[in-house]
Amino acid sequence: MSDMQQYEDAGVTTGEATDGEADAVVEVAPEVERLEAENAELRRKLTEAEETTAWLEDLVNKNQHTLLPIRRHFDRAVAGLLDPERRNGHSGSVAVGVLRLDRSYDRIKDTRDRGKAILFNTADRLKGLLGDYLYQSDRLDEFLFAIPGMTSLDAVELMATRIVEAVSRPHEPPAKDVVFGCHVGLSLNTGRLTKEELLGNAYIALAESETGRGRYVIYDETIGNRYREKAEIERSLSTVAQAGFEDFRLVYQPFVDSEGRLIGAEALIRWFHPHLGPLSPALFIPIAEETGEIRLLGQWTLYNAARQLREWIKSSGRDLHMSVNLSPAQFKQQDLIVRIEGILDALGLDGRHLKLELTEGAIMEDPEQAIRTMKMLDERGVRISIDDFGTGYSSLSYLKRFPVHTLKIDQSFVEDVTTNQSNQEIVRAIISMAHSLHIESLAEGVETAEQRDFLAAEGCDSIQGYFYSPPVPARDFEPFLQAGRIDPRVAAEP
Ligand code: C2E
Ligand code: CA
Ligand code: CA
Repeated sequence: MSDMQQYEDAGVTTGEATDGEADAVVEVAPEVERLEAENAELRRKLTEAEETTAWLEDLVNKNQHTLLPIRRHFDRAVAGLLDPERRNGHSGSVAVGVLRLDRSYDRIKDTRDRGKAILFNTADRLKGLLGDYLYQSDRLDEFLFAIPGMTSLDAVELMATRIVEAVSRPHEPPAKDVVFGCHVGLSLNTGRLTKEELLGNAYIALAESETGRGRYVIYDETIGNRYREKAEIERSLSTVAQAGFEDFRLVYQPFVDSEGRLIGAEALIRWFHPHLGPLSPALFIPIAEETGEIRLLGQWTLYNAARQLREWIKSSGRDLHMSVNLSPAQFKQQDLIVRIEGILDALGLDGRHLKLELTEGAIMEDPEQAIRTMKMLDERGVRISIDDFGTGYSSLSYLKRFPVHTLKIDQSFVEDVTTNQSNQEIVRAIISMAHSLHIESLAEGVETAEQRDFLAAEGCDSIQGYFYSPPVPARDFEPFLQAGRIDPRVAAEP
């Protein structure tokens, strides 16, 4: 049996046909066709499988809205850039950045069905600038990038400026009105940071940028320290109420009239933090406002200041008042009046002994509501003092409508009132305006006899400042109570 015969018996054709064997060719042709068809089918399936694999790969590696590689790849890329063995010749200086779209984007996203296209366009613009250095973060409105070879701060700033510009450009019609911006936090590798530290610092810089310190912020040591201190303050604030405010004290700074007679005091809060040491209220009050802790802190201050005043009125028999600072968030509290009434009732104290210091900002946020609240306080005899007067935007026409008792001329005007002519004019104008509206004028931050003399000559009603006394603990206030007046002295903060 020939070889060919064997094959044919086995049902296999080689497709080979020798001359003069036309029958065999005819028999083999359909087999070839069948095989080719099979081949084509296999190729099609292979392509399909490849496409599916690519699609699956995309699905697990890329964000489906922006088609950017996801966070995992960013982590790997940064690790690579920081690894001396894998650096591929670049110097090892890397700029790591986090970009987050701002609040205006949230609004657009929620109100427009074009949101997806806009997000894609934004990613595309960024890709145009950052190429393969761009990644999607775990959030849709957040992008990450890591650029190698960034050695100078100037280069980083230039890149950041371009990024911000690219995102802020209006989008094409029909969404022409779609404009939003972004915040960018950047951190530069100084050669000894881990990938976690670098990214952490970029996020701290982002937070800094989001609190209004520019569209982009490059991390530095000062920003880092401030951030960590703030975080520690936030943590501690959350437990102070349970701890009965044990690290807090009130100090009292007297007010005198133009003759040096004692007329009252302002209560100022002090925090002796167990780790951070004494903290300025200018630092922790705004944080307490953010965290909401100001409610309890404010209640504690109001109650203790009022209680102290009641004691002093009793022991000295003098008709004094106590000023308590109210931050904007406190002034907005729905139950403010009820709380104040509660304190006055509990202590049996007449409302007219209490004065609340408000800034222009707190009032101007919602002037109509402010007028209503102030009127309710006024009905209970509680008086209002405008703190830091002259630094805000309140207009004379508004002032007439507010039941305001005192204008506290801001210390920045008082500071150089004897040498700076424009500040002299401002102080003069405030005092005469106050007089014409039957409002008391009070100058704060008075430190020298020259300042006091100028203010007295202009007819300023009362004075507060180191020239008479710094804020002091309650026991150091007793001599003022006994004497009923204060002799000037040059004193420093306790
Ligand atoms: P403020 O109400 O404008 O208080 C005046 C600040 O100037 C006080 O700083 C005071 O110690 C200081 N000062 C007083 N006399 C002089 C002076 O002659 N020269 C100079 N250079 N400074 C003087 P302090 O106590 O650190 O308070 C800072 C701010 O913190 C206050 O500004 C007030 O806005 C806020 N604050 C203080 N205590 C409280 C509080 O109990 N509740 C609320 N909500 N805010 C408070
Ligand atoms: Ca004040
Ligand atoms: Ca003030």
